[in-house]
Amino acid sequence: MSTLVTGIAELVTNDPTRGESPLGLIPDAAVVVADGTVVWVGSATQAPAADIRIDVDGRAVVPGFVDSHAHLVFAGDRAAEFEARMTGARYDGGGIASTVAATRAAPDDLLRRGLADLVAEMRRQGTTTVEVKSGYGLTVEDEARCLRLAGEVTAETTFLGAHVVPPEFAARTDDYVAVVTGPMLDACAPHARWIDVFCEPASASAFDGDASRTVLEAGRRAGLGLRVHANQLSAGPGVRLAVELDAASADHCTHLTGEDIDALAGGSTVATLLPGVEFSTRSPYPEARRLLAAGAAVALATDCNPGSCFTSSMPFCIALAVREMGMTPAEALWAATAGGAAALRRPDIGHLGVGARADLAVLEAPSYRHLAYRPGVPIARALDLPG
Ligand SMILES: [Zn+2]
Repeated sequence: MSTLVTGIAELVTNDPTRGESPLGLIPDAAVVVADGTVVWVGSATQAPAADIRIDVDGRAVVPGFVDSHAHLVFAGDRAAEFEARMTGARYDGGGIASTVAATRAAPDDLLRRGLADLVAEMRRQGTTTVEVKSGYGLTVEDEARCLRLAGEVTAETTFLGAHVVPPEFAARTDDYVAVVTGPMLDACAPHARWIDVFCEPASASAFDGDASRTVLEAGRRAGLGLRVHANQLSAGPGVRLAVELDAASADHCTHLTGEDIDALAGGSTVATLLPGVEFSTRSPYPEARRLLAAGAAVALATDCNPGSCFTSSMPFCIALAVREMGMTPAEALWAATAGGAAALRRPDIGHLGVGARADLAVLEAPSYRHLAYRPGVPIARALDLPG
C-alpha cells in the first residue's frame, strides 16, 4: 500500500544533490512512501498517484530526528538534585548511585513503562530513532536486563557497563573492568549493537584512557560497534582514543584541544554534542563552530538521563545549538537528523531520499527555521503513516 504525503510547504530531504543547501530543500513538495520506505520525492505538482493521500496543509516536513545518545532505562527521580544544583544549595541524594539503586530494585514492568513513556514522549516531538544505553544496572544480571528491555523499543542498544564504577567496587576499578569485559560483556553482547565507556580520567568513578581502551577492544572482539563518552569534564584522552579505534561517535566533546579537533576532522568518528547537558548543569557549551570550521561531522542528541539532563526534546537541543553554540538553523537540523544517522552508521535514516526509511516529522510551521525560532514550543511530531 502506498501513501502520498502532499501539501508540504517546505521539505527537508538532506539530499545535497537537490538545491544549494546541504538540507536539500524542496518547496511545495510531496513524498510517496510504500512498505515503510520513501519511493518518490519531488514537487507536489508532479507527484504520482497513491492508494492513500495525506495533506499536511502548508506545513514543513523534515526527516524524523535521530537521537543517537540517550539513557532511558532507569527508575527513581532526581528533581531535588537538579533544584539544589540550580539554587546552589547543599544536597547529597547519592547522585548516579541513587539511580543505580532504584533501577536494580525496580521490577521489569516499571522499567518497561518508564522506557515506553519516554520513547512516546520523544515521538510526539519528532524523534523517530533513539539509541538507548544501559548503565544503571552495573551488575551482570541488571545490565543484561536493561539491554533486553531497551531492545523492545529500539535496534540501537548500547552496553554501558563502564558508565561508572559501582559503589561495591569503589577503588577497585581494575576488578570492575574485568567484570565488564568478562561475564558482563558475555551476558550483554547478545542484546547490544554497541559498547560505550565513560572515559574521564579526572573523575574517580569513571575510566581512564587505558581502562577505556580495554573496554572498547573487548567490545569490538565481541562484535559490537564502538561509542565513547569523551572529554565531557576535561580534555582527556577520550576523543583521540575514539578516533584511533574508529568509534562511530565521540560524545560530549565539551573540552577539546586542537589535536582533538584535528583528529575528529581527519577521522570517521562523529562529534556528538549534547548541549542539554551544559544547559542543565550550567556549564560552558562545546565549541561547535571550531569543529565545523575544521570539517568534523557533528551530531546533536539529547543525552536524556535522570541526572545531568532530563530533556527528551531534539527541537530544544536544536534551539540550544543555534542560540548557545552559534550553529546555523540548517547546521543544527542537519546534525539532529543526518548527523545522528552518521553517528549510528545508519544510511537508511536521517534523510528523505528514495530508499530511506519513511521516518517523517511534521512541523506546525512553514519552515524548518521555526525549530530554533520558536524554542520550547511543541511544533514537531513524528508523522504516523497508515499500513
Ligand atoms: Zn550519556
